[in-house]
Amino acid sequence: METLIQVSYLVASILFIVAIKLLNSPRTARLGNALGALGMALGMIATLFHKGILRYEWIVLGVGVGSVLGAWMALKVKMTAMPQMVALLNGFGGAASALVALAEAERSQALTEYFASPSFSPTTLAIIALSVLIGTVTFSGSLIAFGKLEEILSGRPFLLPAHHYQSLGWLILSLIMTVLYAGIQESYWLYGVLGASLLLGFWITLPVGGADMPVIVAFLNSLSGLAAAATGFVLQNYLLIIAGTLVGASGLILTQIMSRAMNRSLWNVLFAGVGSSTSTASAGDRTVRATTPEDVALMLNYAREVVIVPGYGMAVAQAQHAVKKLMDALLARNVEVRFAIHPVAGRMPGHMNVLLAEADIPYERLYEMEKINPDFPQVDVALVIGANDVVNPAARKDTSSPLYGMPILEVDKARSVIVLKRSMNPGFAGVENELFYQPQTYMLFGDARASLEKITEALKEL
Ligand code: NDP
Repeated sequence: METLIQVSYLVASILFIVAIKLLNSPRTARLGNALGALGMALGMIATLFHKGILRYEWIVLGVGVGSVLGAWMALKVKMTAMPQMVALLNGFGGAASALVALAEAERSQALTEYFASPSFSPTTLAIIALSVLIGTVTFSGSLIAFGKLEEILSGRPFLLPAHHYQSLGWLILSLIMTVLYAGIQESYWLYGVLGASLLLGFWITLPVGGADMPVIVAFLNSLSGLAAAATGFVLQNYLLIIAGTLVGASGLILTQIMSRAMNRSLWNVLFAGVGSSTSTASAGDRTVRATTPEDVALMLNYAREVVIVPGYGMAVAQAQHAVKKLMDALLARNVEVRFAIHPVAGRMPGHMNVLLAEADIPYERLYEMEKINPDFPQVDVALVIGANDVVNPAARKDTSSPLYGMPILEVDKARSVIVLKRSMNPGFAGVENELFYQPQTYMLFGDARASLEKITEALKEL
């Protein structure tokens, strides 16, 4: 049976690796997802045959409650609330690793008392404490990330006096107590690690605000993997070690990609408290040119090439199908249509790709930022649908802006720009957008889906 379990773990690990490879492209992502789920199911079923499991009542209860809650969340969650859900699930993953490590600590304590001699080596005890540390930081940090994304907490950075020294203090305290626990195996040191790391998670995430949240969610995802891997070492479970390491490594790579997309280092994201001051630019008496769906239809009709720039507002308005209809109407009139995708548009990595794929917009029409940016000066019309921060020129010009340094889609260089949004409100980072005041920019106010439907209708009547 043991051999069969280990072989199942090996197959599950291979399935995870193949799944990650397939998730690389939207074309193969569904298959990748299915293979990953299959690997997970195989790993879980194989574990149920472990000789250490004596009773199944609690497992059945856990599987039942977890499945019902998971299915309910998956069915209920709105596409726009996905990042919060990911943050929460990362947190639960970290908490699960910490709880398993605590249970192992209790078992070790009981064995030590029974045999009147140490049952676990200091190294294993240190790994138990590390698993509690990383898992708990992931849990408390994810709760704050969830609160900020769900807007239960303010999205602005929260910094206490000498905040980062306090965070460093919690980290050092956790590590000292880890060493003490490994040395003398008194459980109060382990609960000390638990308390200090709970605070450390809060302290690390509270100063992160505004536009930096996606990077933190990816970072916490990586930590949840490391916590699982540490628990895998405690339990000597190879699948948990491999799966945890895969999550840890891929989360770190994603963190790096996202930091780079904002032209920042992870260090800067974690410690700079970016977003505590908002841009000073104000509307003043500058004029904004409002337009109508009919005028937009006319402009699009006479364009040779239109580049559509989707953002978070397209997700809120669920406008992806209306976008597809407009694209079809334009293509029928021989207007070339491309989509410009910013890596952090929306509220989660790949948010725009998922929505556009749902509306059957061919993947070949989607262009990454670096590819399409040089083309903007030749683009007749840039149609910005509910995007704001990712097209804010302040990121290029205004050194005082919290967005400064973040690479943007350079729609301000297009011949004309049409922005679909409901008001002059700022985007996620709370920063005003100069683009809206440019002479070649026209604002079409209203819900993006309703506006798109009106434009398509007007276009058909031309
Ligand atoms: P923004 O959040 O900057 O702007 C979205 C705009 O959409 C708003 O200005 C809003 O204006 C408009 N909007 C909202 N609802 C509607 C609607 N129904 N119809 C029309 N417009 C609407 O979005 P971006 O995509 O440009 O930028 C993403 C931001 O989110 C970045 O700052 C990024 O760092 C951050 N972020 C990204 C994550 C990711 O992983 N992608 C995760 C978390 C944060 P109005 O209210 O006037 O309509």
